[in-house]
Amino acid sequence: MKIKHSIVLISFFSTNAISDISDSRVKSINHLHEAAISDPSFEPAINAFIQTLPKDNRGNYFIEGDILLSKDGIIEYFKSIKTERLINSLNNANNDILNNSQFKPLLKIGSSHGNIIILKQSERNLKYWVDSSSFSNERYENIALSSFSQAATDWIDVCKECGISFTRVNNKTESDFIIRYVDNVDDALARSFFPNWLPEYKIVEVYPKFFSTTISKTGIMRHEIGHIFGYRHEHIEGIAGCDLEDNSWLPLTKYDPKSVMHYFCAGNRGNYQVQLTSLDKKAHRCIYKYGDYSTCAELNINDN
Ligand SMILES: [Zn+2]
Repeated sequence: MKIKHSIVLISFFSTNAISDISDSRVKSINHLHEAAISDPSFEPAINAFIQTLPKDNRGNYFIEGDILLSKDGIIEYFKSIKTERLINSLNNANNDILNNSQFKPLLKIGSSHGNIIILKQSERNLKYWVDSSSFSNERYENIALSSFSQAATDWIDVCKECGISFTRVNNKTESDFIIRYVDNVDDALARSFFPNWLPEYKIVEVYPKFFSTTISKTGIMRHEIGHIFGYRHEHIEGIAGCDLEDNSWLPLTKYDPKSVMHYFCAGNRGNYQVQLTSLDKKAHRCIYKYGDYSTCAELNINDN
């Protein structure tokens, strides 16, 4: 019954729950997704695509499972993807790395205009402000914050020399991002943001099912912090039964079905403790130590 259990969990972590829908619907959503990316300024294409997405009651949409954006945010995001594709088609440098047969996709780093997206040295002392009034009770706030704090420590311990810290501040204006609770989202557990997002989108949100799930809460926060570092979903390369995403990423390791950045999709993949695997740690240490994609690509990170 393992497979059945994992399918139930998909809907917690991944709002598209593709394994619950037919192949033809998957193809249709894929088509709408591509149409919207190919012309983000064409409103009918954007409207048709966003109608396939889960929505919160503030008019924002979930894409890729745990990324929440307004319609305008999705348009900007798709414009950046389109630009990225154009540049990549003109620039074969990255393709040489991708075509190296020994270097197969996995911990994926976000990329834009051919550059990887990670926290710069000057951005690594992260300050966060907790919107305490958003939490319906103190117990929820304590659980969310202790999970976040432990998850942050787990990432920091992977590379102490990488200069990463997380500090809670009492003043919102001093913060780099916000942690808050939102009580009316049923399709996800939590969400976060990428390093290059505008300040107003830099929010970690936790939802009611975060507190009832049997998935490790610290693990969920490890996954969300992975996005803050710039990591994309491990299944982004198009694993059947997982969410559809874009091509704005580069592989740091071989494909790792147990990665902290993998959803519970496509059968018994992902890990219910959402732990950092050996490959996750090696890739994180490399990219945050050297800050250079080609150096880590040449190291050809694997389990040995
Ligand atoms: Zn995610």
